[in-house]
Amino acid sequence: MPQINFEDTIAAISTPIGEGGIGIVRLSGPKAIEFVDQIFRSKSGQKLINTKPLRVIYGHIIDEKGNRIDEALVTLFKSPKSYTCEDLVEISSHGGIRVTRKILDLILKQGVRSAEPGEFTKRAFLNGRLDLAQAEAVLDVIRAKTDASLVIAQDQLQGHFSREIRKLRDDLMKVYAHIEAFVDFPEEDIEVFSHDEVLKRLEEIIKHVRNLILTYQKGEVMREGILTVIVGRPNVGKSSLLNALLVRDRAIVSEFPGTTRDALEEMIELDGILFRIVDTAGLGPHKDHLDQLSMERTKKYLEQGQIFLHVLDGSSPMTEEDRNIADLVAGKKVITVINKVDLLPTLTPTPLPFKGRGKGEGCIVRISAKTRSGLSDLERSLAGIVWNGSVHVDGVTVTRLRHKVALERALESLESAKKVFLNKESLEFLSFDIKTALDALAELIGEVYSEDLLDVIFSEFCIGK
Ligand code: GDP
Repeated sequence: MPQINFEDTIAAISTPIGEGGIGIVRLSGPKAIEFVDQIFRSKSGQKLINTKPLRVIYGHIIDEKGNRIDEALVTLFKSPKSYTCEDLVEISSHGGIRVTRKILDLILKQGVRSAEPGEFTKRAFLNGRLDLAQAEAVLDVIRAKTDASLVIAQDQLQGHFSREIRKLRDDLMKVYAHIEAFVDFPEEDIEVFSHDEVLKRLEEIIKHVRNLILTYQKGEVMREGILTVIVGRPNVGKSSLLNALLVRDRAIVSEFPGTTRDALEEMIELDGILFRIVDTAGLGPHKDHLDQLSMERTKKYLEQGQIFLHVLDGSSPMTEEDRNIADLVAGKKVITVINKVDLLPTLTPTPLPFKGRGKGEGCIVRISAKTRSGLSDLERSLAGIVWNGSVHVDGVTVTRLRHKVALERALESLESAKKVFLNKESLEFLSFDIKTALDALAELIGEVYSEDLLDVIFSEFCIGK
């Protein structure tokens, strides 16, 4: 991809706003070095513009009157060997809101433009340093919440995913070129691939695309976590269980039934898997408007939940309500949690559709949210329910819905192409279908893109990245 010569120079604070050991202000663009020279005095007195790139220079940031603002280390990158492929300067000063803000203000006063969210990475993409899937991976690296999701994001950033897509495109391109030659010169006896060879190649590509799509479920779980919904009638200890899992007080726990009016979402990591845990309000009959609202939310979570923890009170007999809730989640991934085992047991959960397999789906775990007994069994069951405990990251994994949708579009066209080919329909149709699949793959890695798509992708980024 040719480098685009952006005329303006952009700047932003790249470290989180707040107190910190070091704060970094970053500039990129044709005049980045000149602008920093205006506000930086190196110890040696040498101007940055006369300094070799990939050096770190010690000095001071000074304001218009020559007052020292802070000590700083300036790192110099020259085009094209930088993150954005442009001249790029990073000023490392002391962390803290005032210092970094003041340095940024001094830079902006000279006419540098404040960078938009993700604009450094957008320039890296537009200048061909990263493709679109890699640019998205930058965000995934920053946002990774578990080791496993970090591994996938790093892998994608290294370009493994993109290489796989490019390979698919190249393979498909060969079939396309062959068919196009037939369309353009039907009278000439072109026999690059035999009929069987075309079919074989198409089928291989279809299989490959289908396998990639299948990795999405795992990839999505890695990226987004698993929505785990705690259900149970009022007062069985749902909030207490959430607190016990979080090891800190967050949900409101009360002696009175039905305190948890609202649904709360919290995150925990178990065995490298991220669980987004929601404590729902009691599912009992609603009395007022607020109750009804929380019921509606609960219903939403009942639909969207991926794993359910059905909490029962082990110290009181089963009720009609317990059974109704069991019916509501029947057929889903459910762990039945018998709580309050520190008290005298009176519950006999036999009428429930338990399989009682022990680990994972359909199992019963006995706990006390109060004393934390049995909690590690529950955590093991939770981790075990996800892919039977295997969360290995192997091979290329599709993590983004955008990628999955593009692959599905490609697959649809490829399957149509195969049908056209087998039915010996017009070659133009065949070529059209293959071209559509090629376009979908190209979009995935950003070989073709729209401004709207870039806006959507980069607006997710933070400023300074
Ligand atoms: P929720 O309405 O289902 O969210 O229930 P809460 O978490 O608010 O708990 C209801 C009551 O049961 C509170 O008084 C808790 O202290 C109590 N409770 C919760 N878990 C346990 C437990 O394991 N053992 C005992 N003895 N009490 C518990």
